[in-house]
Amino acid sequence: MNKYDVAVIGGGVLGCFAARELCRYELNTVLIEAREDVCTGISRANTAIVYSGYDTAPNTLKTEMCLRANESCHLLCAELGVKFKRCGSLMISLGERGDKVLRKKYEQGLENGVPDLKLLSGEEVCALEKGLTDKVTLGLLCPGTGTVNPWEVCIAAYENALHNGLHSRLGEKVLSIEKPDEGYALQTDKGEIFAKAIVNCGGLYSAEVREMCHRPEVRIFPKRGDYLIFDKSEGNVLSRVIFHEPEEKGKGLTAVPTVDGNLLVGPSELPLDGEWDFATTEEGMDFLMSLCEEILPSLNRDKLIRSFGAIRPNPFHVTEKPDGSYEREKRGINSFTILSDDEGAFLSLIGIKTPGLTCSHELGEYISAKIAEKLNAEKKESFDPIRPAPISLAKASAEERKKAAEANPLYGRIVCRCAGISEGEVVDAIARGAKTLDGVKRRAGTGMGRCQGGFCSTRIMEILARELGVSLSEISKDGGESFVAGGCCHE
Ligand SMILES: Cc1cc2nc3c(=O)[nH]c(=O)nc-3n(C[C@H](O)[C@H](O)[C@H](O)COP(=O)(O)OP(=O)(O)OC[C@H]3O[C@@H](n4cnc5c(N)ncnc54)[C@H](O)[C@@H]3O)c2cc1C
Repeated sequence: MNKYDVAVIGGGVLGCFAARELCRYELNTVLIEAREDVCTGISRANTAIVYSGYDTAPNTLKTEMCLRANESCHLLCAELGVKFKRCGSLMISLGERGDKVLRKKYEQGLENGVPDLKLLSGEEVCALEKGLTDKVTLGLLCPGTGTVNPWEVCIAAYENALHNGLHSRLGEKVLSIEKPDEGYALQTDKGEIFAKAIVNCGGLYSAEVREMCHRPEVRIFPKRGDYLIFDKSEGNVLSRVIFHEPEEKGKGLTAVPTVDGNLLVGPSELPLDGEWDFATTEEGMDFLMSLCEEILPSLNRDKLIRSFGAIRPNPFHVTEKPDGSYEREKRGINSFTILSDDEGAFLSLIGIKTPGLTCSHELGEYISAKIAEKLNAEKKESFDPIRPAPISLAKASAEERKKAAEANPLYGRIVCRCAGISEGEVVDAIARGAKTLDGVKRRAGTGMGRCQGGFCSTRIMEILARELGVSLSEISKDGGESFVAGGCCHE
């Protein structure tokens, strides 16, 4: 049972889509993920934007994929039963330098073939988005930009892959890879796995995974980012995604009215010198708050309900020095880095940044077609692209809720008061693979409201313990050692 045609390493959005697309072929595919769940890495913490394609250089794979992905995103989201909002975006500037950048992006967008782009005067921008500062001098309107919930997208792709025959090995870390005469032997912390081909989607650790059996070529030198989430009461401050091009070179504000009704602001950009953790920084959050004050003066900044940290997996080419160490080139890599080793049997997606979420399905298609060609695999007629949306009662009518509760009383017992989520939905989330509080949150949406889990966390922990048959002290917030009750729970 540990012999496969293809091993996908990494259960982020890229690994899950690569796995889903590989399931379209007559290939025995396994996904190996070090953590207890999918969507716990970079894919968990990003800006959730479906980009339109005006921001990237013409005639590149990135732009080509982004245009295609944007055009068809509503269809993909419908197939996968996840939310998608084509809210449009406005890039704004507040002076000469920014205006110049916007005009350049406009020209680039036209060259790329992005539909319906329009330059607007400051007054026109402020008439469209009343929450913005009146100091705006120019706007670039792009109706095609959209937003999704990245957790939903990643988990839905994974579930659809499972439905189509994917084997999954969660909580299993690949430690080394050897290349015998044929295929690969992967040593994990649980045993040995054999695969004819490897798709390396290790995110922050993708270069490390590749170097388990290949010479270094590209390495990741990450940076930090911080995000702020404002309560749903502030979700209407904007109706479009805002990209602010600052007058000083550096990061401006990005603000997203999310599919769940909140306002998401960020990311900041800061160095990451120490551990590669997802911690937030005071400096980054202060920076975002000051940008909010400048660009979104009507935003009630007291309505901040959460902050979270992100890590940018910046890839750089490296060259070997005479002493055997590796030196990075000065400029980072801007294009999607897809390295092909062993004549296409070992493919690595290294440090895929924005718009990686937007293009995750396209990247999955691209990779799976290459692997299928390498392994001479035919398309599988039985592939079913549909993943039905899970039951979500918060937006259901009173009649629908009543019916659901009659069929199963757990749907009538609300556990998350802010978002109106029932015990039945929590139990469903656990049955679908959630093992932690955040795993439930990413599937059912609990703990995302104003109280941020203050009221519901203990109840969800009890449900998790009951459904998983473990003790309360074994329930963690987000895997690893993040136990919630450890040390203070006497059972
Ligand atoms: C700050 C930020 C904002 C972004 N915003 C956007 C946006 O708005 N729109 C957009 O289109 N894109 C955006 N992106 C890009 C997008 O988020 C990424 O391209 C995408 O999430 C990368 O996913 P991944 O699967 O490569 O990585 P990850 O999600 O990190 O997944 C990699 C997985 O590999 C696993 N792994 C690693 N090593 C091993 C091993 N040895 N054994 C087993 N498993 C292993 C890890 O545990 C992890 O789960 C953003 C990126 C960043 C950083």
